[in-house]
Amino acid sequence: MTVLPAWTELVRRTLDCCADLAACTEKPGEITRTFLCAPMHDAHARLDAWAASLGLETHVDAVGNWHALRRSPNPEARNLVIGSHLDSVPNAGPYDGVLGVVLGLSLLEALGDTPLPYHLHVVGFSEEEGVRFGVPFIGSRALIGTADELLNLTDAGGVTVAQAIREYGLDVRELEGARLRDDVLGYFELHIEQGPVLEAEGRSLGAVNAIAGQARFNLTLTGKANHAGTTPMHLRRDALTGASAFVLAAEEVARNTPGLVATVGSLRPLPGASNVIPGEVQFTLDIRHARDEVRHRAQEELLAEGERIARERGLTFTHELRMEEPATPMDPSLTALLGEALSAEGHVPTPMVSGAGHDAMAVGHVWPATMLFLRSPGGLSHHPDETVLPEDVEAALRVGTQFLRMLAEREGVR
Ligand SMILES: [Zn+2]
Repeated sequence: MTVLPAWTELVRRTLDCCADLAACTEKPGEITRTFLCAPMHDAHARLDAWAASLGLETHVDAVGNWHALRRSPNPEARNLVIGSHLDSVPNAGPYDGVLGVVLGLSLLEALGDTPLPYHLHVVGFSEEEGVRFGVPFIGSRALIGTADELLNLTDAGGVTVAQAIREYGLDVRELEGARLRDDVLGYFELHIEQGPVLEAEGRSLGAVNAIAGQARFNLTLTGKANHAGTTPMHLRRDALTGASAFVLAAEEVARNTPGLVATVGSLRPLPGASNVIPGEVQFTLDIRHARDEVRHRAQEELLAEGERIARERGLTFTHELRMEEPATPMDPSLTALLGEALSAEGHVPTPMVSGAGHDAMAVGHVWPATMLFLRSPGGLSHHPDETVLPEDVEAALRVGTQFLRMLAEREGVR
């Protein structure tokens, strides 16, 4: 029987490991680690060292995902995957993605030699952020066998995914082998919330019951540019006052629809001079909800509102759907079990919706998936000041081990 480390010791090791991985960067002085960049080798080596000390087998698959495996004594066992991503946005913080991978190893350490009726895979995905090739989830999509259609995408330097794989020293012909074909009983991802909800509610942790679906539109209102001094107010066809009415309408629809978020994040008035009435405005709408039918209804309402504003103001309105991702519900039974683990450790089990995409979104279409969010102080992420509280890391370790034990009980009597 090995002696299990004290929680504070394990929290320290978890945070030290995140700090250690932060040193693996393409740009000295900041954390930038994109898909298959050279410093990723170093990140894998550092994780290998910890995994080896826990007696785990490790390997890197054909798209650069890092794997550590703890086998169950039961050869018939199914697989539980604990994963998150090791890539980052440019000038990132040290915890987005990385913390989930490191916590996977910490959870294995916390379990010691407790026998489990399932094999445990900890996976550090090579690509989630979509920075290098403009498409997210390349790593997690390889595990579910849908990455082959991405091989011809090119990065800013004209390098394809297939070439990047070769340049990193991997064999693209083995891509099919990266697919996890074994029976997967579940996917569990720990991730910082990257938003302000848990902090506002005074909670350390939250189970996620859905990842919001989203749509992004390019919108245009067109009127007539004219002289700002000589054109009386009642004779104007000002595209920007129309767009302003739309921005407020989007806010109102979202405020009146529980769980809906709608954002006009970009607004470009043309010609864009202080003495010219804006004749055209190009703008965007980003709209998200955990239930696609609610989002669709709100989208239709807002597009109709755009038409109404245009009619009323003598403008024309056009819209183009640029991107749409359906909502991904997390597995109800795994998420309920995570809620039980939260309750057992004295936390509020009320689940929440993730407004951002995660690897759980990619694999959640194929495997039962659930997520545990850790509070983000200041709601801050994708920023060098991104942080996490040690007490929340301890809470995540306690809830995580509780969840894995409960899952073992459930799986044992299957
Ligand atoms: Zn992330």
